Amino acid sequence: MEKESSKTIIHHNLTNENGSNPDSNESEFQFTQDLSLESIRKLHNKFVTERNWEQYHSPRNIMMAMVGEIGEIAELFQWRNDSDCQVGLHSWTDEQRNALGEELSDVLIYLTRLADRCHIDLPKAVLDKMKKNEEKYPIDKVFGSSKKYNMY
Ligand SMILES: [Mg+2]
Repeated sequence: MEKESSKTIIHHNLTNENGSNPDSNESEFQFTQDLSLESIRKLHNKFVTERNWEQYHSPRNIMMAMVGEIGEIAELFQWRNDSDCQVGLHSWTDEQRNALGEELSDVLIYLTRLADRCHIDLPKAVLDKMKKNEEKYPIDKVFGSSKKYNMY
């Protein structure tokens, strides 16, 4: 059941307004398996504890740090044209792609840290939110449409 809904999300995200997939090869892309948000949370907690940095990790400070990292992602995309930012970023050098991977990781690490500091069970919150999104955007009403939920 869960697999079915994630397939639906992938289809929805990769489908353009004509209902066709703009880059069908990209649907084959997958992450490395078996790294949970809980394991990221634990790895980062250990990293922080070993350095005695908990004292700086208020929810507010972590939120600000995460926003800074999002800015670092934006720097990698700024001033590029659309053709240089197609799905897969095949025109980027290995160095540029590695830099993006590092900044995306910084954001994810701070996001899990922020959820930890706020005592939000992030994996549960994600599953709950996806369920809510599926109810808000029923496939038969929104298929192929980019309209907001209050516009159909
Ligand atoms: Mg960074």
